[in-house]
Amino acid sequence: NISSERRAIRQLDARASNRIAAGEVVERPASAVKELVENALDAGATRIEIAVAEGGKTLIRVTDDGHGIPKDELALALSRHATSKLDGDDLINIRSFGFRGEALPSIGAVARLRIASRTADAEAWEIRVSGGTMEPVAPCTLRSGTVVEVRDLFHATPARLKFLRTDRAEMQAISEVIKRLSLAAPAVSFTLRDVSGGGEGRVTFSAERGDAASRMEAVLGRDFRANALEIEAEREGIRLTGFAALPTYSRGAAVTQFLFVNGRPVRDKVLVGALRAAYADVLSRDRHPAAVLFLTCPPERVDVNVHPAKTEVRFREPGLARGLIVSALKHALAGAGHRASSTVSD
Ligand code: ADP
Ligand code: MG
Repeated sequence: NISSERRAIRQLDARASNRIAAGEVVERPASAVKELVENALDAGATRIEIAVAEGGKTLIRVTDDGHGIPKDELALALSRHATSKLDGDDLINIRSFGFRGEALPSIGAVARLRIASRTADAEAWEIRVSGGTMEPVAPCTLRSGTVVEVRDLFHATPARLKFLRTDRAEMQAISEVIKRLSLAAPAVSFTLRDVSGGGEGRVTFSAERGDAASRMEAVLGRDFRANALEIEAEREGIRLTGFAALPTYSRGAAVTQFLFVNGRPVRDKVLVGALRAAYADVLSRDRHPAAVLFLTCPPERVDVNVHPAKTEVRFREPGLARGLIVSALKHALAGAGHRASSTVSD
């Protein structure tokens, strides 16, 4: 009820502001998984295990062997805008996935959250928060690293709960998120397990640590690799590497497009448009090119702080990134004999 009657302005308390932030940061179970796996990667993990029940609605558990959180910082990790990843106020030289300090407090505002962690040379400690209410830190048992458990996501926000899709669809989205992140970190092993109904569960995705090519094969399959052209190009300080599939391998849906900017998975209109343009002459409009592309550029030339989920980026010179992708892919396709009737150019 929006009334015209004026009420005094008041500062929202932490509980309310965390719940509001949660609306942007955790849209569905897959977004919580993304945040937790990114945290594990930021912590230098070499092995990350993800267990999920009922499409992540009842349980998400991410276990890593990273550097852990010290006892006296566990409560801080659950506080909004508290992060170990920003150096002063430098939003340019961001080298980590996280930096906003919003994920854990947001998840804690809309779920039951438990973090158990152990740093080198210390005991293991845990903290729990439910619907925004934090419990005191307590001792626990854990060999090393961090375990973050999210139970009953959105139980505190039934409106959001109603918008979730079937367990199967949510699990699919989670799997997608993990595959995407695993492509960005081939030196880390990943295991995704569906533990619906309890017990050991069933492994639905796993990838051992290796190089970019072997990870690509683990995620996209042998068939993709056999049909992929290796891409390597550079222009004015922007580097492009990755793999682009032959037009004959194209799909009816854009499910095999994995784009990364400075190691961060992105969904960027400029880049997707460039990919499409590169194949325009050799692919009919209803087909989607398949590619895994990594763009690397100096951090000051791309802004990653555009959206809370950080999947959008803004290039200082979008035309440059686009031109590089279009010309490099066209060149590779032409080399493989897929030259369209028109001449290949930028
Ligand atoms: P951000 O990642 O933006 O810093 P988060 O809310 O995701 O914010 O996490 C808050 C802090 O908790 C991080 O800055 C990090 O210091 C710590 N943290 C979270 N997850 C882990 C983890 N798996 N291992 C080690 N430290 C972690
Ligand atoms: Mg984070």
